[in-house]
Amino acid sequence: MAVEHPRPFPPDDPDCELCEAARFTHWYDETDHGWIADCEVCSVPMAVWWHHGTDPAEEVREALLSSLGAAADARFGPGNWEFDTTMRQVPSHFHAHARDRHWWNLRFSRPISLHTGVGGERRTAAGVGDSS
Ligand SMILES: [Zn+2]
Ligand SMILES: [Zn+2]
Repeated sequence: MAVEHPRPFPPDDPDCELCEAARFTHWYDETDHGWIADCEVCSVPMAVWWHHGTDPAEEVREALLSSLGAAADARFGPGNWEFDTTMRQVPSHFHAHARDRHWWNLRFSRPISLHTGVGGERRTAAGVGDSS
């Protein structure tokens, strides 16, 4: 059972939306390295480093991608998604997406997920356990 705890230190950059780490959508996980939550724009899982910057240590990057992969496997099923480490929205802060094949077509129609704590069942405005 994941425990909700405050971010380990104040935001590096108070003007950065990823530093802000707003708890708005579903959070799959929170680790020493960062957090895994649905991207508000793409509605797919996204891993975000706690720190502002583009270059986490290799082991931190791998740990974040591993946590993201676990969330994506649970959401889409193994083999049904791929990593996208291109940082378009916030190029100055390391984050990565796990995109399923349909994310582009569904990005506006998928109901936004709700923040209900860290881990647990993913809920959307449309209902509980929505698998899309
Ligand atoms: Zn996104
Ligand atoms: Zn940042």
